Amino acid sequence: MPQLLHGNPVRDVILEECRKRIGGLSRAPGLAVVLVGDDPASAVYVRGKVKACEDLGIYSEKLTPPASVTTGELLDLVDRLNQRPEVDGILVQMPLPPHVDTKRVLLAVKPEKDVDGFHPCNVGRLVTGRPGPQPCTPAGILRLLHHYQIPIAGRHAVVVGRSDIVGKPAAMLLLQEHATVTICHSRTPDLAAVCRQADLLVAAIGRPAMVTREYIKPGATVIDVGINRIDVRREAARIYGGSPDKMAAFDRNGSVLVGDVHPLDVAEQAGAYTPVPGGVGPLTIAMLMANTIAAAEKGLS
Ligand code: NDP
Repeated sequence: MPQLLHGNPVRDVILEECRKRIGGLSRAPGLAVVLVGDDPASAVYVRGKVKACEDLGIYSEKLTPPASVTTGELLDLVDRLNQRPEVDGILVQMPLPPHVDTKRVLLAVKPEKDVDGFHPCNVGRLVTGRPGPQPCTPAGILRLLHHYQIPIAGRHAVVVGRSDIVGKPAAMLLLQEHATVTICHSRTPDLAAVCRQADLLVAAIGRPAMVTREYIKPGATVIDVGINRIDVRREAARIYGGSPDKMAAFDRNGSVLVGDVHPLDVAEQAGAYTPVPGGVGPLTIAMLMANTIAAAEKGLS
């Protein structure tokens, strides 16, 4: 039987550390979350982040400019947040509307308040192995691997996906821990053959159940970052082989969540893997909390 790498116990450890660190501060850390427009998925993510702040006693503030906001208006908003000493962290929820210059907005966030680790200064810190805020999802993946004592050094890690948010930083963190790292993307020929070489396979693609049996070396550790909502019953039945539990869940909710890795194939092939939901997902917000507290600690020291 493969080992299931559940995220919740790791999240609980991180949040417990957060509570202790908050107890050592002279005031509550503060996080400002900027949510542009009314994208329902973004609203759900932001709600989760604000709730996590409330649970921990982090002061949070939600700013909700309309989808018609201009790049200039967003830059002004970020600048005002940069000036406020009680705001330790600023998070601009992605994606921004297409007319907004996302790169300029992310560049405007003061690197000290960049709790997502997206500012080029912090990307540079990550690449050169200097301390600084690390992107939350990849940092969460590393915490998960450490928690379950999955060896990294000397292993061949294959990361599928090269986004600035997940794929690239995950590859950098694995490289720093002495994995031999291959990064794949949509132009990689014979992707399955490359993935099959992986001792440690990270899938951050955004394509439901794309990583099937022939991508997975028997016994490999598989980290599934993907979160894909399937709302077509036939498609859910195909992926889950008509599993009565999953189909009952589909009928209750009108959809099911599927990762980028085929859930049945990974259970047969892998030595250890993260389930979806309940694997990497819970760690992203926990790492955001940790980054916010680190920003407050630095600001108050
Ligand atoms: P992006 O869309 O930004 O990047 C996807 C990457 O996958 C790209 O590099 C793309 O290649 C590559 N890709 C797409 N199709 C293929 C293919 N057929 N073969 C090989 N590579 C392919 O996505 P993100 O990195 O932001 O997110 C990836 C997944 O992770 C999504 O499902 C997202 O929902 C999830 N996610 C989960 C989080 C969590 O908390 N668990 C947090 C963030 C994301 P190319 O560059 O060539 O286009």
